[in-house]
Amino acid sequence: MLRDTYIEVDLDRLADNVEQIRKRIGPDVAIAAVVKADAYGHGSKTCAQTIMEHGGDYLAVATLTEALELRGTYPQYPILIMGYTSNENLRYVVENHITQCIFNEEQALRLNELGQELGMKPKVHIKYDTGFHRLGFPDCDESVETIKRIAKLPFLECEGIFSHFALANDEENHRQFYALQTAVKKLEEAGCHFRYRHICDSIAAIDYPEFRLDMIRPGAILYGMKSFRKNDLDIHQVIRFVTKVAYVQDIKKGDGVSYNYKYKAPRDMRLATIPVGYADGYPRNMYEVGEVTIHGQRAKVVGVLCMDQCMVDVTDIPDVREGDEVILYGDESENAVTFAEAALKCGTNKNELLCRFTRRTPKVYLKGGKPFKILNPLLPDGMEEKECGL
Ligand SMILES: *Cc1c(COP(=O)(O)O)cnc(C)c1O
Repeated sequence: MLRDTYIEVDLDRLADNVEQIRKRIGPDVAIAAVVKADAYGHGSKTCAQTIMEHGGDYLAVATLTEALELRGTYPQYPILIMGYTSNENLRYVVENHITQCIFNEEQALRLNELGQELGMKPKVHIKYDTGFHRLGFPDCDESVETIKRIAKLPFLECEGIFSHFALANDEENHRQFYALQTAVKKLEEAGCHFRYRHICDSIAAIDYPEFRLDMIRPGAILYGMKSFRKNDLDIHQVIRFVTKVAYVQDIKKGDGVSYNYKYKAPRDMRLATIPVGYADGYPRNMYEVGEVTIHGQRAKVVGVLCMDQCMVDVTDIPDVREGDEVILYGDESENAVTFAEAALKCGTNKNELLCRFTRRTPKVYLKGGKPFKILNPLLPDGMEEKECGL
């Protein structure tokens, strides 16, 4: 490896998580696997294939560029853009056989026009706002009338209709679900049929089996992140974030550490410097709360985090040496800080921590417990693989 700091992505675990979800929901509900934000930091191009080979039916992203990235590698997989695409960019959506979320009539008319021009029938999923107030047709009869008109457009396929839970509370979840159901019922009575009606993200898909409809849109649970409250699912974190000790030094009581000497050694101490900083996605506000695992023991982050490095207290961990493995995020079984624990420590959520990884931090993909592919966007194509003998 050309860099000691990297993310390990276990593709067997990812596959297993998808299979667990499939087992739970049965064969009749489609899985639109949410791979936005580079598959929550796991690398969307590589993960998409694993997910689709193990039970995924559709790939869901937030933006046109995310969809184009996947389309470039996978001409065959259905891809849904769940977010907004400007009218001027809808041409790229159609040309690339991407399914678009729409929430006004103008978008529908533009897509219909493009469909006619290009001799195609672009697919859309209608977004219906049941309360989140992000995107969507407002929940009212006028919207239902507009959607009826859209459904009749000759060069457009209304493949889906969907909404999104705010997950405010149980009562509100039910209200949102029935708001969508009521609108869909009116549309169906008017002869509009949708192959995919959907409203469940990860949490709702597990906690509210009765809300799954034709499709679910799991993101977090694909990657082993559990946030549901009522039910459980046997899934596991896919990523480990690791590095190696760069330097070990002894300092005296009262010595300052890092910028501004903000940290002052309360006793004689042994420090290990690790080549991880906030530019690798390890949050700067891990200052005073961060812990890493070395030889199965916890070491506290001391001193202000730097962009590229930080120091940890290894005074009570015997025989720490340059080159020893350091786990920043990992499994409970190895006494490592999980994403859940890390999120609590620095006051954010698991998803945000996953999205923070940067280009500088390579990804090592594992299959059968062994490195199978290494992605280092900084290196010329193929260089990293050669170094590793892959
Ligand atoms: C991100 C997103 C999801 C997935 O959410 P998770 O909580 O990660 O499962 C589902 N639907 C929409 C519309 C999203 O934006």
